[in-house]
Amino acid sequence: MAIRPRKQFGQHWLKSEKALAQIIIASELKKTDRILEIGPGLGVLTEKILPYVDKLLAVEIDRDLCKKLVFKYGKVDNFLLIEGDFLELNLPDILTNFPAFQNYNKVVANIPYNITGPIIEKLLGTISNPSQKPLESIILLVQKEVGYRLVANPNNKTYGALSVKVQYLADCEICCDVLAKEFYPRPKVDSVVIKITPKNIDNPANNPKFLDSLIKLGFASRRKMLKNNLKSIIEPEKLTNLLSELNINDNARAENLSVREWINLSNLLILTRGLSPLPNH
Ligand code: SAH
Repeated sequence: MAIRPRKQFGQHWLKSEKALAQIIIASELKKTDRILEIGPGLGVLTEKILPYVDKLLAVEIDRDLCKKLVFKYGKVDNFLLIEGDFLELNLPDILTNFPAFQNYNKVVANIPYNITGPIIEKLLGTISNPSQKPLESIILLVQKEVGYRLVANPNNKTYGALSVKVQYLADCEICCDVLAKEFYPRPKVDSVVIKITPKNIDNPANNPKFLDSLIKLGFASRRKMLKNNLKSIIEPEKLTNLLSELNINDNARAENLSVREWINLSNLLILTRGLSPLPNH
């Protein structure tokens, strides 16, 4: 039975051997690796990963595809398939029944693009609640524009709240391009393979929750200066003083601040404001 790609699950099969090889190279697979693959689909990437690793745990939402995957790999003993929505599943709970597949150290996946942000957040955690069990690396195919946002530096148009939030928790690099024509059906946009490496956060923010909300508020209107975006929590004249203490230009916009500057600003604001909560946004 041929399976038609389903739009609602963001199904775009990789059909290019070159792209598959590039993902495998970027993943730097080791015999000891325990991989999590989100959305194996028809298993084209699964097939390439399996021979190189210790374990492969796959999570697929589509019941029909799961049947196919069980038929294909059900007897492979270093493979475990879980049917369900990755965003909803409580993997640690489920894996208590499959101890050999606990403690996966890498994620390698061609994911559905419509849930890229939530997938990354589930894997990395957030500034205020970073993942307790950091992964060694996360290798994902993402749409090009999102990939560029993840690696963007300050003063760049693509640098936004996502860049700051992810770069606070991890190093990001673009490994290679994958063109739209390398998928079936062809997506509207080109893609890139990205590698996200969770890092130890040196000198984390004194109040990560506050930093999280501050970033959101600071980027609320990209065209406005920080002074204006942060008006609801600090008077512009006072912010001018804090910015000059931090050697940041008085007219700075959110996109001009490095991750370290966001942390410094957050710490200084807390000292000045005496820890009163941010208004809700
Ligand atoms: N990795 C395959 C398929 C990529 S398409 C390939 O490269 O060819 C994305 C896959 O993710 C599809 O198989 C889709 O059914 C699955 N998927 C979509 N949403 C999901 C979710 N919330 N949890 C788990 N899998 C999901």
